[in-house]
Amino acid sequence: MEVVIIGSGPAGYTAAIYASRAGLSPVMFTGFNLGGQLMDTGDVENFPGYPNGITGPLMMEDFKNQALRFGTDIRYKTITSVDFSKKPFIITDEDGNSYQSNSVIISTGAHAKYLGLDSEKKFSGYGVSACATCDGFFYRDMNVIVVGGGDTACEEALYLSNICSSVTMLVRSDKMRASNIMQNRVKNNSKIKIEYNTHILEILGDKVVNMVMTNNGVFSCDGVFIAIGHKPNTDIFKEQLELDNEGYIVTKPGTTKTNVEGVFACGDVQDKTYRQAITAAGTGCMAALDVERYLSNLK
Ligand code: NDP
Repeated sequence: MEVVIIGSGPAGYTAAIYASRAGLSPVMFTGFNLGGQLMDTGDVENFPGYPNGITGPLMMEDFKNQALRFGTDIRYKTITSVDFSKKPFIITDEDGNSYQSNSVIISTGAHAKYLGLDSEKKFSGYGVSACATCDGFFYRDMNVIVVGGGDTACEEALYLSNICSSVTMLVRSDKMRASNIMQNRVKNNSKIKIEYNTHILEILGDKVVNMVMTNNGVFSCDGVFIAIGHKPNTDIFKEQLELDNEGYIVTKPGTTKTNVEGVFACGDVQDKTYRQAITAAGTGCMAALDVERYLSNLK
């Protein structure tokens, strides 16, 4: 293979579109979470070209169809290990099949973080969720809690306010980290209440969640949505590539080059600042152009 793309979010698909059009015959391994984080996103209103907005899953379907149109070989497999110590690189999938490739584009993204409480694990799927668009439906006319004060937490709270009777946001400090526009939206929503300086000590219930114990008293609720940020999906690259102290792949500024020549990274797996579909797509384009130059220099 000339180029393997690992991961199928906006970064991976954009890399696939560019690499296919450049005649590089990319092979994409989608991973288990086909389409990435946008599959859990309701309306996307800030991606240029969609004046009326679009849902995350429909947008990813568009990305996929565009990549297929130019001949991307999409394989619905998860890559479980890589060997970047020699060339060609070796990539192995969940079934133990190994592939050789002259170059690799990593676009494995990031996933939601949890608080790390035992009770959170115990009630996962029984009142604890990290995705309002996936699970909000189950909390119609109920009272829910959203943990976090970033843009994700605000988005989750706003989404849930359309379904639930009440939404209480628990913000651990005295201020939110979210953008002003999102803060204003939650503050002006009569169904959303914000509790500052409040963090969860324990999630309680019988079979399903019915309250949370915090440093600031007990709140009764039917569901808890955790929205406290993300962790990059880089476990399989730990011994292979330079990662920063939070686990993000380090790329050479202004490029998608990693510390291994021929391996490139794009999207949220290397971006803890912007984390937008549009920025991920932009770096996916950069990765394909970087790969194209790299491969043509090999010839
Ligand atoms: P952020 O890192 O921005 O925010 C995380 C929030 O969770 C903060 O309020 C943080 O508190 C809190 N938090 C972290 N750990 C804990 C914990 N253990 N207990 C309680 N609270 C905790 O993550 P987001 O996912 O919200 O956003 C990531 C990026 O994506 C941002 O750049 C954001 O702007 C962007 N984004 C943009 C959207 C849009 O434009 N529509 C939508 C969603 C995200 P503290 O501040 O105290 O650390």
